[in-house]
Amino acid sequence: MTKDIYVFIETKDQNVRKASLELLSKGKEIAEKLSSQLYAVLIGHNVSGLIEELKPFSDKIIVAEAEILEHFRWDTYGEVLEKLLKKYSPYLFFGASTTTGKDLFPRLSARLKSHIISDAVDIQIDGAEIKVKKPIFGGKVLSWLSYDDDRTLFITFRPNSFAVIKGSYQAEIFIENIEITRDERMNVLSIDKGGSKKVDLQEADFIICGGRGMKGPEHFQILEEIADIMNGRVGASRAVVDSKWREYDDQIGKSGKTISPKLYIGCGVSGALHHTMGMDTSKIIVVINKDQNAPIFQYADYGIVDDLFTILPILKEKLKQAKNET
Ligand SMILES: Cc1cc2nc3c(=O)[nH]c(=O)nc-3n(C[C@H](O)[C@H](O)[C@H](O)COP(=O)(O)OP(=O)(O)OC[C@H]3O[C@@H](n4cnc5c(N)ncnc54)[C@H](O)[C@@H]3O)c2cc1C
Repeated sequence: MTKDIYVFIETKDQNVRKASLELLSKGKEIAEKLSSQLYAVLIGHNVSGLIEELKPFSDKIIVAEAEILEHFRWDTYGEVLEKLLKKYSPYLFFGASTTTGKDLFPRLSARLKSHIISDAVDIQIDGAEIKVKKPIFGGKVLSWLSYDDDRTLFITFRPNSFAVIKGSYQAEIFIENIEITRDERMNVLSIDKGGSKKVDLQEADFIICGGRGMKGPEHFQILEEIADIMNGRVGASRAVVDSKWREYDDQIGKSGKTISPKLYIGCGVSGALHHTMGMDTSKIIVVINKDQNAPIFQYADYGIVDDLFTILPILKEKLKQAKNET
């Protein structure tokens, strides 16, 4: 059996998502160690314009296009991928731990009676052994899992787990025409794209997150200004989203999004397990909370015990100054 690695390419607004480029970069490193090939799997409607962008990252690109693939739907995407995976039999199949990846990968692995490791943060090759790193028990423990089976291993990785490294490959292209059985019981009637956020929460390098300690929606303005200076995004705890101070799209945690930015700043967030399991793999964690016993300090690289309404204006000015000096 070959040890080829396949990466599911996610697209958004006719662009390849950064999370997929990260997976191709890591996939290439692993494929080289296994002396195997890296395939990008690009499916959708009018996506062939993205082939050039993907070519330097992989050895091969499989493309399947159809009008019905314009919007992500589990049934149509699942059917195409199931047929492709049965034909090609990858050793590893990577996807991003995004809303789409979380919907698609567990269902696919079940359909193919195979294995899945979800929400992983790293993968290494030790001799011939695959080792996958994954947070467990709500992020309290980091586990390394090994794999030894002939069936495809499905792995979803948290966005921002790997750097994007553009290669200089000239991938070979395979066009696949796959017949899709349409399930007439379900139709996409319209798509509400929500606000025009500059950066996707899961792909942002910088996230400043407001909790209930922000006291009200009007105080999120300063977080927006800081996020603008840092070219990042504002996130929120569930308490904030439930209070309708912010949209659900901003929610970080178990029932929201899993993030892994270079820098997370939590403001007035207590650090309930349901929240921390969505942000504990952030590279640097800074916390502002007036209660020194707040659980979130256990995760912090840097902590400020003070009133956030005193600290945030100072932080904003310092960041603005630092940006102007660079
Ligand atoms: C099934 C389930 C799923 C859940 N999913 C999620 C999820 O996805 N994401 C999530 O976040 N939560 C989730 N929760 C809720 C979670 O358990 C917590 O209730 C929530 O995270 C608390 O939000 P918070 O930290 O903003 O508020 P609080 O716990 O009320 O904390 C507010 C903090 O602000 C501090 N503070 C107050 N005023 C100031 C000030 N002036 N200056 C500085 N600090 C101040 C306080 O000291 C306190 O620590 C879930 C719960 C359940 C049951």
